[in-house]
Amino acid sequence: MATVISFNNSYGRLPEAFFRRTRPVAFPELRLRALNRSLAESLGLDLAALDDSALAALFAGAELPAGADPLALAYSGHQFGNFVPTLGDGRAVLLGEVIDRDGERRDIQLKGAGRTPFSRGGDGLCPLGPGIREYLVSEAMHALGVPTTRALALVSTGETAIRETPKPACVLTRIAASHVRVGTFQYFAARGDTDNLRRLADYVIDRHYPAVAESAAPYPDLLAAIRRRQAALITDWMRFGFIHGVMNTDNMAVSGETLDYGPCAFMDAFRADARFSFIDQHGRYAYANQPALALWNLTRLAEAMLPLLDADQDRAIAVAQDVLGEFMPHFESRWRAAMCEKVGIQKPGDGDAALVQALLELMQQNSVDFTLLFRRLCNAVDDPAAGENVRALFDNPGAWDAWESQWRQRLEAEAVPAPERAARMRAVNPAVIPRNHWIEKAIRAAEDDDDFSLFNRLRGALVQPFDETAENADLMLPPAPEERVTQTFCGT
Ligand code: AMP
Ligand code: MG
Repeated sequence: MATVISFNNSYGRLPEAFFRRTRPVAFPELRLRALNRSLAESLGLDLAALDDSALAALFAGAELPAGADPLALAYSGHQFGNFVPTLGDGRAVLLGEVIDRDGERRDIQLKGAGRTPFSRGGDGLCPLGPGIREYLVSEAMHALGVPTTRALALVSTGETAIRETPKPACVLTRIAASHVRVGTFQYFAARGDTDNLRRLADYVIDRHYPAVAESAAPYPDLLAAIRRRQAALITDWMRFGFIHGVMNTDNMAVSGETLDYGPCAFMDAFRADARFSFIDQHGRYAYANQPALALWNLTRLAEAMLPLLDADQDRAIAVAQDVLGEFMPHFESRWRAAMCEKVGIQKPGDGDAALVQALLELMQQNSVDFTLLFRRLCNAVDDPAAGENVRALFDNPGAWDAWESQWRQRLEAEAVPAPERAARMRAVNPAVIPRNHWIEKAIRAAEDDDDFSLFNRLRGALVQPFDETAENADLMLPPAPEERVTQTFCGT
């Protein structure tokens, strides 16, 4: 195949211990189901001469483009708290890297491209449903401004993945700042391979945290820089009501991007303990646990990095504790700022955290839809009569009244014109998010009837999450009781 992708590969030049060379497998019947043309453009890909069947061959790995160096990356991971020394890419192949139009290095990965040397008992396949979910949710996250991997293409393969029932399979082309995870550090730490651990840390500094290279203490500063991006990321998830669902250490990217959209979900009605993942029976990764679990993962990262933090182990532990001790205060201050912004407070002060907390408690007691409440709150600012529409979201509407008057009083203390305040709130409180019941309907139509029209409609709508339009009115609404989705699956 001609040069359609100008590869600029770096991971394959690391020592052999970092990966296994592999090949995407051949599939029976490829069909291009989605191509993200604006993303392809920003990556500088030259796809103009390719028709849909050539594009399907490219994004299923059937035709290897010139310059590709397909790798399965090695990593370990704590899965639900249990350490597994060898995981690695069992159903994904890194095709190579490109430098995008902004000068950023990006991985191009084919997820679901068949078995690799890390597949263990798995089939290397990605069922279509989870592929559709990852496509929609990752692109929605990007549109919301949350750091995330992206979806470039979706190809159905004609292969069947045997799960609880047989499922059609797909290949999802994923773009990432990199696929280095906490588990990648654990992989070398578990083997006592300090040389490669240091090589990995240097690679991550060079690729993601170049400012740290100048530091007198680069490895403690690297840990601190990763910690800062994780605190920011978890705040972003939570301010949009997002639950990742599988925050295992192999699913936490050190770049600070959201990685691995498995059984993830945006909640409808607010619950601090909301969880959807079928495999998260005990709620380890429930909504409000996410900061604590991010810190747990960062602690595993710090443990893996100990030999780099200081030659003396006691001193290394003290360094790690210092760095990690900043996580919760940092997260909490970002969280307060984000929540104050959502309710329209421009200069947060004493008492505002309690005001926000009181609202969340009322929302939980009254099964109030998270996204819709904050969106309607925007309208209640420049149209006091619209307070009625907020009130209507509460099981017990009287619960809203006392909070509303406190809130209005608080806003009056800031001399901001109402239209300006409302406009700012509308820029942080989305109207359209990928609600579970819509994703589920799109999956059902695609899997059962080979109908991708709803998937395409959602793809179009989710790129403008802050716009309220007549065509999107139905996408904004919470599910009717019979539409409610209570469990999501990762498709492994
Ligand atoms: P995940 O839950 O998707 O983050 O995957 C955890 C680990 O299991 C990773 O090492 C995956 O590569 C591997 N894995 C998940 N599903 C499959 C599959 N169908 N075939 C082979 N490996 C898989
Ligand atoms: Mg994973």
